[in-house]
Amino acid sequence: MIALLKKWWHSLGVMEPKALVYKKFKDHRLFTANVFLFGAFLGVILWIWDYITDPVGAQETVLLRSFFLILLVEYLMVRRWKNPYILGWMALALVLLTLMDYLVILTHLEGGMVYGIAGFMFYMLLPPIAFQAFPLWLNILGIIIIAAFPQLFAEAGFVDGFQQANYAVLIWPAASIAILIQYFYARSYHHRYEMEKALEHLSYTDMLSGLYNRRYFMETFHNLLEHAKVSGSSLGLLIADIDRFKLINDRYGHPVGDEVIRSLSALLAREVGAAGIVARIGGEEFGILLPDTDMEASSKIAEQLRLATAQMRIDLQYEEPLAFTISIGMAVSDNKSDVAALFKKADQALYKAKQSGRNRVCST
Ligand code: GH3
Ligand code: MG
Ligand code: MG
Repeated sequence: MIALLKKWWHSLGVMEPKALVYKKFKDHRLFTANVFLFGAFLGVILWIWDYITDPVGAQETVLLRSFFLILLVEYLMVRRWKNPYILGWMALALVLLTLMDYLVILTHLEGGMVYGIAGFMFYMLLPPIAFQAFPLWLNILGIIIIAAFPQLFAEAGFVDGFQQANYAVLIWPAASIAILIQYFYARSYHHRYEMEKALEHLSYTDMLSGLYNRRYFMETFHNLLEHAKVSGSSLGLLIADIDRFKLINDRYGHPVGDEVIRSLSALLAREVGAAGIVARIGGEEFGILLPDTDMEASSKIAEQLRLATAQMRIDLQYEEPLAFTISIGMAVSDNKSDVAALFKKADQALYKAKQSGRNRVCST
């Protein structure tokens, strides 16, 4: 029973993953900030409404109205800070302060509690619009707190003449709608987020091998080389190419050739592990980036990869297990290296390895 409830709660998706919450904040922060900016001035400008309903009482609400400018604090903070959780709570606290102020304003106006009740509707609009940058659960909680706050405030005896029944009939249906809007909007954002993540993964992945593709490799190569230059470390680059792969294709057929590529990919990924980035950069060509790795360490890794490949066997259904080898070209960056030059160096080293007999590691 409890497990079932847990599953149901999880499927609702009210608790968003942290990475999503931060991405959502990044996507919406400018919008949220600007709604707070607008809200601050709207709260002040609505003094005109006070004046229309009660010109005499409105003399007393001018200062109270200017208190709405406190929402500018949230505007500035959302533009500067980056924590959606803290900012979400802060937004709620500031909104409650203006709500308290609004209740006090109404006590200063003749019939304020009667005419002013529509003003609470603005507050129901605020969370689903302005709070888009914040976590869903916090927004739902926020709507409930904002809706209940005037009732509790009046119940505690802080304001006179608050019309509990009228307020409840007006606000709670509005609050329910606000929660639904908020919920479905967040769900649709979540859906989009998952699709974007899947697309991003696809755009960096080679389909056959499951390794990174050439696009990711070149981007990362560029970034790691910049990093190496700044930090004064060296970046190792290996280009590995299967020896006489055409013969394998010709003799065993393309599907076996594909299997060789997959097996080698798994081996390279396993052997390199956390020491670097492995990508399939061509048909039977692999690029390996080794950050913070000098010439000696690079050649050790390259030699290990060459040896492990030579020792690997691919099981075939009707024939002897298949063995194959790779040649590796190696280059290591210095503080003057650029991507094109370093790549060319490793490529030339690979050519040298092929020329001098294959199944070996060469550098220039
Ligand atoms: P070398 O030792 O000089 O590298 O010889 P090689 O035969 O490996 O050289 P070459 O680059 O001429 O041949 C590469 C072959 O790889 C040609 C192409 O048909 C094959 N190939 C490229 N991509 C794939 C693939 O995805 N699957 C299969 N099965 N073969 C591929
Ligand atoms: Mg080859
Ligand atoms: Mg090749």
